[in-house]
Amino acid sequence: MSPCSRSIISQNLLQLNHPFPTCDIGQGRRHLDSSLFSGSSSVSVNDSLCYKMSFFKFLFVAAIVSNATFIEGYSLSNLDIVTRDEWQARPPKLVEPMPNPVPYVIIHHSYQPAACYTPKACIKAMQSMQRFHQDDRGWNDIGYSFGVGGDNRAYTGRGWSAVGAHSPHYNNRSIGICVIGDWTEKLPPTSQLQTIKELIDYGVQKGMIQPNYMLLGHRQVRDTECPGDALFNEIKTWPHWIPSPPNEDVQVENVNSGANAVLL
Ligand SMILES: [Zn+2]
Repeated sequence: MSPCSRSIISQNLLQLNHPFPTCDIGQGRRHLDSSLFSGSSSVSVNDSLCYKMSFFKFLFVAAIVSNATFIEGYSLSNLDIVTRDEWQARPPKLVEPMPNPVPYVIIHHSYQPAACYTPKACIKAMQSMQRFHQDDRGWNDIGYSFGVGGDNRAYTGRGWSAVGAHSPHYNNRSIGICVIGDWTEKLPPTSQLQTIKELIDYGVQKGMIQPNYMLLGHRQVRDTECPGDALFNEIKTWPHWIPSPPNEDVQVENVNSGANAVLL
């Protein structure tokens, strides 16, 4: 079993729900299109009045469309974040608060458990990792901030605002994402990769991750094969990936990692 699968975790109780259902935005837009059309067809009744009405209607529509466009950042996302309750996580033994936004995102693979492609299998994978980390490793919780399954869902581990146990020296300033599966020789499905990207983008939008965050693979901060050659080569093509952390960050002690300092 790779060192990466022998990972870590604790917990943050931040529960994230999808704020703007996609279907609502779509219906709203259809209504706006209809409203615009009816406004322009009423000009013959009383030009002055109708111009005024059209003008105000235009302002109203513009405001709504503008707002809808803003909302779209979320509404177009298919991101589905599974809460700890939903995957029946055990409570953490201890939660160490982590300041946000964090400057790093670190990618892992689980190696074991193997890839999962259904909610039932991915829940089982999350539970097995938490059990291993808490019982065998003696850590506070599952080590990762999030797990991402082949069911294209993001599972809340320690979450956005709790110190993790996945990458020495970086646990108190990074979001650790475990891509469930062994990605040494093959890549995760495109949809699973997309879920990772959406989770990171959502973290940025929520102010949990710095907009100019630095993306790393676990192997860049520790001697490990994690996150697997195939997945590592993939994330190296992502815009925020950096070849190595800034020198000033390399040897900083992770003073908040506590018992979790012994990891992976
Ligand atoms: Zn790892």
